[in-house]
Amino acid sequence: MKLIVIALSLGALSAQAADYSGPLLDAHLHYNDEAQQAHPLADVLARMQRNGVRAIVANSRPNDGTKSLAAAKAETAQAGVTVLPFVRLYRNREDYSSWFKDETIYQMVQTELARGTAAGPYKGIGEFHLYDSANANGAVAKKLMALADDKGLAVLAHVDDIAIDLLMAHTPSKGQNTRLIWAHTGIGGASAARVRELLLKYPRLMGELSYRPNLTGADGKLTAEWRALALEFPSRFMIGSDTWVNQRWQYYDELMRGYRTWLGDLPAEVARKIAWDNGALLFGLPVNTQR
Ligand SMILES: [Zn+2]
Repeated sequence: MKLIVIALSLGALSAQAADYSGPLLDAHLHYNDEAQQAHPLADVLARMQRNGVRAIVANSRPNDGTKSLAAAKAETAQAGVTVLPFVRLYRNREDYSSWFKDETIYQMVQTELARGTAAGPYKGIGEFHLYDSANANGAVAKKLMALADDKGLAVLAHVDDIAIDLLMAHTPSKGQNTRLIWAHTGIGGASAARVRELLLKYPRLMGELSYRPNLTGADGKLTAEWRALALEFPSRFMIGSDTWVNQRWQYYDELMRGYRTWLGDLPAEVARKIAWDNGALLFGLPVNTQR
C-alpha cells in the first residue's frame, strides 16, 4: 500500500514540468529617476543577476538612468548583463501626453541618437504611450516612426491595436520592415484573434508580454488561447519586467519566477526563443548559447 502511494506521487511529480532555467532577456525595463534613488545600480544589477537576466532593453525617464546603466561597463560585465539602450521620449511626466506633437521631443531624440551611449549606439526608441490611438497621427509620431524604419531602430510602443495599424502606416515600408515591439501586446485586452491578425500582417512585429490580460491562468501557466499563439508564433514574443514604478523592482524576483513557470510548461525550444533568442536576434546578441 505504501509503495503504491510513493509510486503515484512520483508519477505526479514527473508530470510537472520544471521551470525554464535558461537565460532571460528583459525586453521592457525602466530605470527611472525615482528608481535610481531607491535602487542603486548594484541593487538592480544584483536583481538581474540572481534571476538569470542576461540582457535588458533599458530606457528611463529622463534618459540619465539608461545612460548610467550603459556607462557602468565594469559592473554590468561583472553581472553578466548586456545593456540595450533605448531613447525614451519623456523628460518628465508631462511629456507622456504631448510627445506625439512636440517638435522638441523629435530634436531630443535626434540629439540622443547622434550622441549614443557608453554601451554603444541606441538600439531603439521608446517606450512611448498613446492613450488615444488617434494621436498616432501626430506630426512627431509620424516622423519618429519613419525615422525608426529608416535607421532600423526598434520601437517600444504601449498602444492599442488600432494604433499599431496607424503607426505602421507612417513608415516607408508600411510596417513590413518595422521592428515594432508591442509593449504588453495589447494591455487593453485586444483578443488573441486580433493579435494573431496583426502578427500575420506585420512580419517583424514583436509582442512583449508584461501586464498582458488573460495571459496566464490561476495555475501560472499560459491560458489555452495564449499557448496556441505562442506555439503558432514562437519567434514573435518576448518577456519584460516593465519596472515603471519602484514596486516592480521590489517584485522583480517574483516577476521573473512567474515567467519561468509558464515558460517551463512550453516545449523547450519555444521557451528558449521567447525567453532569449527572439530578443537576441532582434538586437544582434548570440543565440542558443548557455551563457
Ligand atoms: Zn513600461
